[in-house]
Amino acid sequence: MKPNEHPSWTEPDIPEKDIIIIRERRLPALADGGIARSSFLKIVVDIRSYYVYYMNMQLTRTIKIKLNIPIEIIKPTVEVYTKAFNHVCRVGWDDSDSNGVSLHNKTYFHTREYLPSQLAVSARMKATEAIKGVKARIKKKQKATCPQTKQSSIRYDARSYNVWFDRNELSLLTTEGRIKVPVSVPEYFKQYLNWKRCSAELFIRKSKVFLNIVFSKDITDLELTGKVVGIDRGIKKIAVTSENQFFGGGKIKKVSKRYEKIRNALQSCGSKSAKRHLQKISKKENRFRTNVNHVITKHIIGTIDSGTVIALEKLTGIRQNARLHKKQRKELHKWNFFQFEQFLTYKAESRGMEIKYVDARFTSQKCSGCGYISRSNRQSQSFFKCKHCGFSLNADLNASRNIRQNYLDAICYPSSGLVNNRIVGNEVTKTIGNCATT
Ligand SMILES: [Zn+2]
Repeated sequence: MKPNEHPSWTEPDIPEKDIIIIRERRLPALADGGIARSSFLKIVVDIRSYYVYYMNMQLTRTIKIKLNIPIEIIKPTVEVYTKAFNHVCRVGWDDSDSNGVSLHNKTYFHTREYLPSQLAVSARMKATEAIKGVKARIKKKQKATCPQTKQSSIRYDARSYNVWFDRNELSLLTTEGRIKVPVSVPEYFKQYLNWKRCSAELFIRKSKVFLNIVFSKDITDLELTGKVVGIDRGIKKIAVTSENQFFGGGKIKKVSKRYEKIRNALQSCGSKSAKRHLQKISKKENRFRTNVNHVITKHIIGTIDSGTVIALEKLTGIRQNARLHKKQRKELHKWNFFQFEQFLTYKAESRGMEIKYVDARFTSQKCSGCGYISRSNRQSQSFFKCKHCGFSLNADLNASRNIRQNYLDAICYPSSGLVNNRIVGNEVTKTIGNCATT
């Protein structure tokens, strides 16, 4: 993505000088013994020949509120909004047109007949995005059809909704004009109320009406302290940090196994009620995993200081690790590592940490003590012993230290053979596992 295509792109305010200096990347000074070389990289930019850009990092949070209104009040609006969305999509698809202005000119008169103008514009914008989405799929030679939906969610913006949290009131635009709706915000979400309020999405699920409100906050330059923590994600433990901490394990595995047993039994039964039961169980299992991912990422972030860089392996690396047994690969695939990563990222960002990805190669085969790489270094799934220097360690912990070192190598910190001089002690200081039920 080019910088000016980034959603948080801001038009630069260029000073009236020919040459300006922007700080691009700060090279962290190692907090634990490394030598600081230069505190930041200076780049001289001549604005006569270059574009200067900067990107604001933005945190966003979505809060979901259940609206206590009978569905009949909002349903007619949802129906015509859906009609408008489908209509614009049809026109865009037939004309192969994904240009917002052109689609507006082609459809506004039609959709305006049954929708208030702000909602007609909003439906067109939503449809334009959908058309752009399918166009991108076609470009990648993937399957694509004209986007059509039975029930669209309504996107509200500043001109079509308003909310007053101090008096618990919400105003929404409908086909019958503006309606006032009482709202109550769950206690946990109140921390976001002083953020900038953005768009909102109204939708109906199981005859109940919900509103997702998006809040955002700009974060300025991260103040990095130079500390780096590597995290290895795996099968035996969901996460192990280079700070000797282990997350997830025994109990979580047990529960997963129990679900698997039930699932297998139901699958082999195959009756109609078994299928229904299976669906229920899968949903329950998903909730269990989501919860575990939330609990573990929260624990991890709680143990790391703000200003730290968290180094992770690239996800494709662990999925394609051919050295795992077939059964283990299956287990790994089942755990939602993508979700884990998302949770970790948003929690880290809001606490002033940065997530960086490193190459996953050799992290499990390399000795974090001397750097010697050999397949036979890893004696079992959980035990690592170096053939060269005899250094031995829990295999996942060894991997997390390698991930940390890989990041340091990538930002050009010298890879000394004495990595472990920086991480003192081999014993495990704290284990946080079995936290599935907290
Ligand atoms: Zn070694």
